[in-house]
Amino acid sequence: MATDSASADQLAAIDKASTWHPFTQMKRWCDPEFDPVIFERGEKSWLWDTRGRKYLDGNSSIWTNLHGHNHPRINEAILRQMHSVAHVSYLGAANVPATLLAEQLTALLPGRPLERVFFSDNGSTAVEVALKMAIQYWQLVGRLGRNRFVAFSNAYHGDTAGAASLGGIGTFFGRFAGLHFPVDHIGSLEEIHDLPAWQKGEVAGVVVEPLIQGAAGMRVWPSGMLQALRRLCDETGTLLILDEVMTGFGRTGTLFACQQEAVVPDFLCLAKGLTGGYLPLAATLTHARIFEAFLGEVEELKTLYYGHSYTANPLACAAALANLEIFAEENTLVRIGQMREVFRAGLSELEKLPSVHSVRQCGLIAGIDLVNPTSGLPYSWEQLTGARVCRKAADYELWTRPILDTVVLMPPYCFTDEELRQTFAALRRAIEDVCVG
Ligand SMILES: *Cc1c(COP(=O)(O)O)cnc(C)c1O
Repeated sequence: MATDSASADQLAAIDKASTWHPFTQMKRWCDPEFDPVIFERGEKSWLWDTRGRKYLDGNSSIWTNLHGHNHPRINEAILRQMHSVAHVSYLGAANVPATLLAEQLTALLPGRPLERVFFSDNGSTAVEVALKMAIQYWQLVGRLGRNRFVAFSNAYHGDTAGAASLGGIGTFFGRFAGLHFPVDHIGSLEEIHDLPAWQKGEVAGVVVEPLIQGAAGMRVWPSGMLQALRRLCDETGTLLILDEVMTGFGRTGTLFACQQEAVVPDFLCLAKGLTGGYLPLAATLTHARIFEAFLGEVEELKTLYYGHSYTANPLACAAALANLEIFAEENTLVRIGQMREVFRAGLSELEKLPSVHSVRQCGLIAGIDLVNPTSGLPYSWEQLTGARVCRKAADYELWTRPILDTVVLMPPYCFTDEELRQTFAALRRAIEDVCVG
């Protein structure tokens, strides 16, 4: 298994000596006792590491993968594009797959209400672009006072400074608060009326993860919340920015979460699943009114001066086109509907465990809250119970990652019913092993 150039042990040693992993306490990682998983290979629902151990990809490689690993169709699309050209600049030029992809993305919502696509590289930049477009839009139409945002407690919209300004998770974002864009955070929609900025018409846009907040621990919004928010924004002329970086491309049961409440946003931010989980690519969609405000002579300085070197990378766009083809040809949304029922049944069995406090499901997304089975109370977070359960689940061939003591399950759509059952069986054993009081 271990690669030709170095043994599994050597690779682990090199990794501990040279890398710095995201959202990871590196003191623990570098501990000589710690055995890091180094993935080497993937096939459909499964991943293999350098020690030959295999795992079901229970969180879709941090919420990105849709149709499984090593998918022949996406592989082929990338290879074909690679033999044409791997990368060219999108600044002042186009490329074939990006042009075709933009058209297809605008056609995904019925009636094509969001007719413009701005490409960038990841979920954070997809949100960052929407923020900058919103601010510049209000400047261009002469409303300079609309220069703040409203976001929600426990929100997560990414880690670049602009996107992090919207973040409502103190542990991640608190220390940078002084460097952030002006944002008011609210816990529920009703609280928006109490904000002085809202009352004074200073809000450029409201940003939300529709239907379910991901990094918050898979918290589901009350039904109707999104529609009520759309109505409030319409009444006040405020822009609605939907971050569908996690929820997009079928996760919640429909292609986009906003379709479940028949809401069309002013900005739709897409990333994670856009390429089927193959390559970094993001898209921010918006409508004609925003786009047209930026039109003018060069000297009027209305241009959106924003872009990245790898924007609209042709390989990534080719992967995204293949992703959309798979949705159409394999009836992926129908399969998601079937999986959702198996998923629901597995979750309700788990919920009976004394160490499971509650489960939340939205489509093929689940959060499973752990508690101490003796006291019935939450563990203190420093005990890292969620992390220990996931580590144990890996011994039972399930790979996933918790959010504190909430275990996340988010399978790719290629999971068979049998693999879903294996997932729940593995997690159940891990919970029973670790949560013993
Ligand atoms: C993951 C995520 C982001 C950030 O995306 P990156 O590609 O990691 O920058 C933003 N918003 C939501 C809802 C996410 O889940």
